[in-house]
Formats: sequence, structure tokens, C-alpha cells
Amino acid sequence: MPDPLLEALLEVQAHDLVVDQLRHRRESLAERRSLREVTDEIRRADQQLAAVGARAHELERAQRRLEDEVTTLGAKRSDSERRLYGGGVQAPRELQALSQEVEALARRTRALEDELLELMEAAEPVAAEAAALEARRSELDAEAVRLAVVVSEREAEIDGLLAAEAAARAEASAGISSELLATYEQLRRRLDGVGVARLEGGRCTGCHLALPAVELDAVRRAPPGTIVRHEECGRILVR
Ligand SMILES: [Zn+2]
Repeated sequence: MPDPLLEALLEVQAHDLVVDQLRHRRESLAERRSLREVTDEIRRADQQLAAVGARAHELERAQRRLEDEVTTLGAKRSDSERRLYGGGVQAPRELQALSQEVEALARRTRALEDELLELMEAAEPVAAEAAALEARRSELDAEAVRLAVVVSEREAEIDGLLAAEAAARAEASAGISSELLATYEQLRRRLDGVGVARLEGGRCTGCHLALPAVELDAVRRAPPGTIVRHEECGRILVR
């Protein structure tokens, strides 16, 4: 005759096993793994963006420095030209010196403008790289948001199932003594989540071992309501 308490304990265990599976599923969501990968990729993209940004900033600073220098040279040149053509300077040697100065300033300006052009050319691929990285970063952001939504949907779904299992377990365990539940839970922790097993065809369905004839006989003879345990694995046996 089946013992209703032990049948209830088997039901508790069935719910506990479903809970174990649901928790495992919740922890190992493929989308959460993907989200972690995308987050890692975002961090790498940010590092690259920072490096490219620093390079672009450096080029900009160099460009501004050259532009300032060109402006200063331009002012100097205008000043020299004014004196050269202003009529105030008459001495040929002074005029020649001024003319040479104007030429030297023009040469220097041309050289700086060439450098400036090189800098601007060097900045182009850096800007293109930054734009490509920004675009990639936006894509990754969108993907991360999408995955986060999927993860929370899956979690909510699983949490709903977990709540239903918890309610069903509470109902199944209502009539079981706290001592028996405590023993069962202790066994479950120690024995891969299975604390109670049905005895079927002389075998313990927890560890799948056949009980020796003497033990089997003792188990069968135990008075109803006795809690018997499989000597080999320690699990509670349900006759
Ligand atoms: Zn066993």
C-alpha cells in the first residue's frame, strides 16, 4: 500500500528537480552569454575609440600650432612688406635686407603650409577609422539593448514557472513533517538533488543498484509509516 506521505515527498522532489532545471536554464541563457560577449566587444571598441580619439586630437593640436605659426608669419610678412613698399626706407642695403626677409618669411610659410597639408592628409584616415568605430559601437549598443530585453523576458518567463513550481511544492509538502523534509533536503544536497527514490523491482531508482536480498526483505517487512533508507546510497526509499 503506498504511503501517502512518501508519495507526497516524491512529488516534492519532482518539483525540486524541475526547479533545479529552471534555475540552471536561467543561469545559462544563451542570450546572456551573447550579451556578455557584446559587452566585451563594446569595451574593446571603446578602448580603440579612445586611442583613435587621442591620435586625432594630437593631429588637431599639431595642425592648430602650425596654423598659428602661419598666421604669425603672415603678420610679420605684411609688416615687412609695408616697410619695403611704404617709401619710408630708402637705403638700398636696408631695402635689400627687407626684401630678403620677406622672401625668407614666404619660404618658411610655404614649408609650414606643406607640413599642414601632410597633417591634414594624415588626419583623414584617422577620422575615417573613428567614424567606422563609432558606427560599430552604435551597432553593438543596439545589439546589447536587444539582448538585454530578451534576457529579461526569458528571466521573467522562467521566474513565472519557478513561482508556479514553488506554489505546487508548498502544497505537496504541506503534510510532511519538518524533520522528514529536513532529512530529504540534506540528502538532496549531498546526492545530486535526489533525496528520495522509489524501490522498483528490487532496485533503488536513486542509485540504480539492486538491494541485497536481506536488505530487501527487511525493507519489505518494515511496518507501514517507517522511513527506510537505502543502506548503499542513503536515500529515503519509497516502497
Ligand atoms: Zn540507492
